Amino acid sequence: MSFKVLTAEFMHESNTFSTHKTGLPEFRRETLMLGEEALKKRGKSNTGLAGALSCAAEFDWDMQHVVSAWSEPSGPVTIEAFEYLVGLIVEAAKAQSFDGILLCLHGAMVAEHSDDGDGEILARLRAVVGPDLPIAVTMDLHANVSKRMCELAQILVSYKTYPHIDLKETACHAGNLLQRTMKGEIKPRTLRIHLPMLEEANGGRTDIGPMIERIAKARAWEAEQPGALAVSINGAFPEADIAEVGPTVLVTYEGDDRLHRAFAQSLADDIWNRRDEVINTYHTVDKVAQIARTYPRQNGPLIIADYADNPGAGSYGDATELLRALLAAGVEDACFGPMVDPAIAALLCEQGVDATVTVAVGGKSDPRFGGTPLTVTGRILQVSNGDFIGDGPMIGGLEQSFGPSAVLLVDDIEILVTSAALQMLDLQQFRAFGIDPAKKRVVALKSMQHFRAAFEPIASSVVVCDSGALCTLDYGRLPFSKIPRPIYPLDREMTRVTPPCSGV
Ligand SMILES: [Zn+2]
Repeated sequence: MSFKVLTAEFMHESNTFSTHKTGLPEFRRETLMLGEEALKKRGKSNTGLAGALSCAAEFDWDMQHVVSAWSEPSGPVTIEAFEYLVGLIVEAAKAQSFDGILLCLHGAMVAEHSDDGDGEILARLRAVVGPDLPIAVTMDLHANVSKRMCELAQILVSYKTYPHIDLKETACHAGNLLQRTMKGEIKPRTLRIHLPMLEEANGGRTDIGPMIERIAKARAWEAEQPGALAVSINGAFPEADIAEVGPTVLVTYEGDDRLHRAFAQSLADDIWNRRDEVINTYHTVDKVAQIARTYPRQNGPLIIADYADNPGAGSYGDATELLRALLAAGVEDACFGPMVDPAIAALLCEQGVDATVTVAVGGKSDPRFGGTPLTVTGRILQVSNGDFIGDGPMIGGLEQSFGPSAVLLVDDIEILVTSAALQMLDLQQFRAFGIDPAKKRVVALKSMQHFRAAFEPIASSVVVCDSGALCTLDYGRLPFSKIPRPIYPLDREMTRVTPPCSGV
């Protein structure tokens, strides 16, 4: 029997402290594709859609893909963008009758009119398809999963890797469970344990540290425990001033919930008990500049990651503190990217290659976080429309764009000045603009963790700094008002609060 399945991708991680709202122009610049176009451009990459397509082939689904929408994390999604995109999905669900729905969401979306954007999507769909239609959802490992989401979707499965290299695999997992549910083989539901923390101690890193063991336990539980269908360990997204921020452990299961609940609680306890085991060393910008100044040339560059100005977590990407320190230290044979400044990028494009210019770059979105504009004089090496196609493990084959961009050589640092804020996670983000990071002595980039997938293989060493930009680890600087208190680490001395359990 062939089932009719509706699919959609609508993913956004919303930084509620960013003043840059995420509207339709932002989605259009990154990813906003309807049905056929999405299948063509995203169907063969590391995407949820690719996983859905593989299920469709395996199970002979009559699959209708409505839309794929993604934008780099930024401020809350505008009412206009949210209503348009959710409207497409809800109208498609209304127009025909389906046997099931597979949605690829992020799980940390905030809209201007809803702090629980993903829960709102599910609520709108339920209003149309009723309470019983099987709905499976894939999520990012950094989801802030609400109680409502677990009540509205039977199946929720998160990525198990950070860097996220298992988007397709996660959708295959969710799609398999959806197929079994549509066939009537299983009757899944999802339970949730929520922790009173802003995030897991290492932001959910799965390459080293305690998450390795937790993910192994999750996989073993899925494989061996009767009734266990999916275990998701969400590290959370802390730059969200919402009531349901924080890490969660989910188990999608069938049958008696007691064993699964106890298992989820044991993972949650481990997250809580190891909350002080921070693996990264977060240097100051001056410290990393000093390391860079004397770093010996060897096989592969020193990579310096600015954790705090990561556009992949909604930072503006225009913080200047790190660049200022590198220039002051006289660091040679280096590249830096991105420096997000649309006005200066446009000016450089207008001036053209080989022109020498003096400009005040960056520091314009909110100089309280990451520094004021930096005046530099340099020569333009390249100008570009900013388009590139990824070739690494995360975005291989996917088209993205920095918008009008230029490379400016200042002293001995090649600076990639861009219009759009994108996290550095693929070598093509430098190479497409004439910079070969593998051949540099020092590579400074803006990313927390995703850069490791493509850049660690070319690196001789990696150091991380906190420039004080919007995603600083100094959470006390962020004006939280809606989060529940006490919460770790803002209320560091708090005693254990038993995390509330919820499920259906
Ligand atoms: Zn993530």
